[in-house]
Amino acid sequence: MTATTQKTNLLGRTSAELTQILSDMGMSAFRGKQVFQWLYKYRSRSFNEMTNLSKADRVTLKDHARIQRPVILQQLRAKDGTEKFLYRLEDGHTIEGVLIPETKRQTLCLSTQVGCAMGCRFCITGRSGLVRNLSAAEIVGEVLAAQDHMSPHRALTHLVIMGMGEPLANYDAVVTALKILLDPGGCDFSNRRITLSTSGLVPGLQRLARENIGINLAVSLNAANDATRDRLMPINRRYPLADLLATLRDFPLPGRKRITFEYVLLRGINDSPEDARRMARLLEGIPAKINLIPYNASPGSDFTPPERTEVEAFQEILLRANYTAVIRESRGGDIDAACGQLRERQCSGQPSVIPGESKPNKP
Ligand code: SF4
Repeated sequence: MTATTQKTNLLGRTSAELTQILSDMGMSAFRGKQVFQWLYKYRSRSFNEMTNLSKADRVTLKDHARIQRPVILQQLRAKDGTEKFLYRLEDGHTIEGVLIPETKRQTLCLSTQVGCAMGCRFCITGRSGLVRNLSAAEIVGEVLAAQDHMSPHRALTHLVIMGMGEPLANYDAVVTALKILLDPGGCDFSNRRITLSTSGLVPGLQRLARENIGINLAVSLNAANDATRDRLMPINRRYPLADLLATLRDFPLPGRKRITFEYVLLRGINDSPEDARRMARLLEGIPAKINLIPYNASPGSDFTPPERTEVEAFQEILLRANYTAVIRESRGGDIDAACGQLRERQCSGQPSVIPGESKPNKP
């Protein structure tokens, strides 16, 4: 361990935690709030920038603390404007994140683990298993690094926690990161603009229900009976559909919120009219919105997507049952940035990004 890595990383701490850390270094309590703002609101990476701190406090911070976040090594842009970031972590592992530009919103898809242990059969991330969890600093750092690389004219508006990993399997770091992202003194995202997607880890869902943080919830469903879901998503053998849906029926949904159910359509596996009718019955009583995602064919996969007419017929059954059911067009397929295509990659260690760093105005 080097002298630098022995220093406390200030990123990934809630405002209260940061105040405690600085107070342990002998600083006044209000310094915690100031440094919190510098880290998240102004995205500072150097203590020298923190000009409303005394010189002595800045020296103390330099001696005992650091600001360590993922580095964007590569930024690829797809024909449809989707951008994929390759982030390098402090220990050399890499993760990917995706920026999805639309007319009125800019959405960043975040990763929460290097790899994933869930092993969903249709997902490339799950093929190589779990390497490790990300820390809260790394998760929030994905957002800060992406914001720094975006044009100043395009502010990040939405976050979806749907990248590499099962977020509820890295519960503590993900919830800490969410608290920082939602903090008005920090990243200041509205809870209406953050969505967490899970494969259906029931104990994690029950804990999340008690956190009362009001973010949007998405569930990767992909089958309407246990036999098919067992085959596609091994987690279903531990938490079968009856347990998952009972937990979702109890999940607190403020206001008019609905749970989004994601359904990857795989030809001949889960795409029959009977599957659609079964799903309509299964979700009865749950405020639900359904995203239908025709499978993104990938090399080495046994699966293929259904024909467009079959996808529309599937959607029609759900619409007639009074569900909101949307066909999600795949984005970023030419740069492997579409759903289920993210993975750890070998990298040269040399940044090759499209320049365009932007910074918010400082006080
Ligand atoms: S779909 Fe999500 S939970 Fe399943 S293996 Fe891929 S990353 Fe993991």
